[in-house]
Amino acid sequence: MNLELSDEQTAARQLAADFVDREITPHAARWDREESVDRAIVGRLGALGFLGLTIPEQYGGSAGDHLTYCLILEELGRGDSAVRGIVSVSLGLVAKSIHYFGTEEQKQTWLTRLVAGEALGCFALTEPGTGSDAAQLRTRAVRDGSDWILSGTKMFITNGTWAEVALVFARTGGEGHRGISAFLVPTDSPGFTAREIHGKLGLRGQATAELVLDGVRVPDSARLHAEGKGFTVAMAALAKGRMSVAAGCVGLAKACLDAAVGYATQRQQFGKPIAAHQLVQELLADIALDVDAARLLVWRVADLIDRGEDFAVASSQAKLFASEAAVRAADRAVQVFGGYGYIDEFPVGKYLRDAKVMTLYEGTSQIQKLLIGRALTGVAAF
Ligand SMILES: Cc1cc2nc3c(=O)[nH]c(=O)nc-3n(C[C@H](O)[C@H](O)[C@H](O)COP(=O)(O)OP(=O)(O)OC[C@H]3O[C@@H](n4cnc5c(N)ncnc54)[C@H](O)[C@@H]3O)c2cc1C
Repeated sequence: MNLELSDEQTAARQLAADFVDREITPHAARWDREESVDRAIVGRLGALGFLGLTIPEQYGGSAGDHLTYCLILEELGRGDSAVRGIVSVSLGLVAKSIHYFGTEEQKQTWLTRLVAGEALGCFALTEPGTGSDAAQLRTRAVRDGSDWILSGTKMFITNGTWAEVALVFARTGGEGHRGISAFLVPTDSPGFTAREIHGKLGLRGQATAELVLDGVRVPDSARLHAEGKGFTVAMAALAKGRMSVAAGCVGLAKACLDAAVGYATQRQQFGKPIAAHQLVQELLADIALDVDAARLLVWRVADLIDRGEDFAVASSQAKLFASEAAVRAADRAVQVFGGYGYIDEFPVGKYLRDAKVMTLYEGTSQIQKLLIGRALTGVAAF
């Protein structure tokens, strides 16, 4: 693995860093308090090419390699995990799935709009009764002539009230993962409703929704990939998605480090900066170590993808480590801030609230351990 960035990669990272410092960081606390990021950010992300990373230029994408993708996702995660999540889902889970599995018509209809930021996508796998065990999902799609009629409920769907297209996983056949197909459903379809979920611990600026599909009719041309192959689409998306979450976690942990170092060198106790107390330095050193270790795991996944190697287990490892590291980093940053870490005048409390969900979505930490364990032993312990 080459750890030296090219000039293009360095420039892309700087572009993202400048954008974050100018257009995200100054607003993140307010967006969190108001429970909504400014929707105009989507168009700006599109204009910079951040919603088209790794997608070929013929579809309006900005192409580039997966390391560049991770560098930019890290910067977005440093600014605001809610904004990073919008990109991870619309580009990472939806647009990339269309690029990989879609027909030319689906690419022309949705991919071009998604990468331009003219439309957002959401990824609707989880249901009220099925999370970790997604293969048991109960949303149904029933054939009606050349159409499909979809009915069911999806839970905790990121971008759910904002998206123009939902990638919906529904049962078209028998039990288990082989009976699932994927559909690209316009969210203005009759029978499709999205209800925003309020009161989240973190990621408050992000539109998380419950989706209800009540007899939603779509043509067969809306089916993504073959009938019965929906679970393949979902798992392929999540394998890369975990790298995206992990990259965001590196950025979040870096934000914790920057905030904690800044505060520790300013705040005085016992007649000297708290940075001069060894136990405070221990907290800072532990955060720094987690940032670097998580980043190296993320870069390894990007490198494997760019070289065409198997990456799914490495992606689980990166997601598991980076998400737990982000929680540790945020917890330590709050500790460095003392009582000031506990009020929202400073950002570290938000970092802690935002970090926790990274250990839950796109496969909980327990599920990542089971995936890693299965790869090590050949035995599935699900
Ligand atoms: C803010 C937010 C945004 C989200 N965005 C999306 C989205 O865009 N699209 C989407 O489809 N979903 C989304 N999700 C859903 C998320 O992916 C699920 O919450 C997650 O997969 C866990 O499912 P669950 O909540 O049903 O928990 P459960 O599966 O019920 O798990 C509960 C606990 O049991 C543990 N557990 C379960 N099975 C096992 C096992 N076999 N062995 C050991 N432990 C086990 C879990 O690790 C966890 O600790 C989002 C969730 C949140 C909170």
